[in-house]
Amino acid sequence: MAVPKRKTSPSKRNMRRSHDALRATAFQECPNCGELKLPHNVCGACGHYNGRQIITVDA
Ligand SMILES: [Zn+2]
Repeated sequence: MAVPKRKTSPSKRNMRRSHDALRATAFQECPNCGELKLPHNVCGACGHYNGRQIITVDA
């Protein structure tokens, strides 16, 4: 099995981890009902997307 010749330095380890951070989930208001929804997703409260009724949501 291939094995690293040198221990990864703290600098290199931290450079690798510089892209590991999680980002807060994006939210936007539904233009139809004002409920918070995920961007590029059908609104879970009213079923609208792009100004059209996509799915029927029973209240
Ligand atoms: Zn909505």
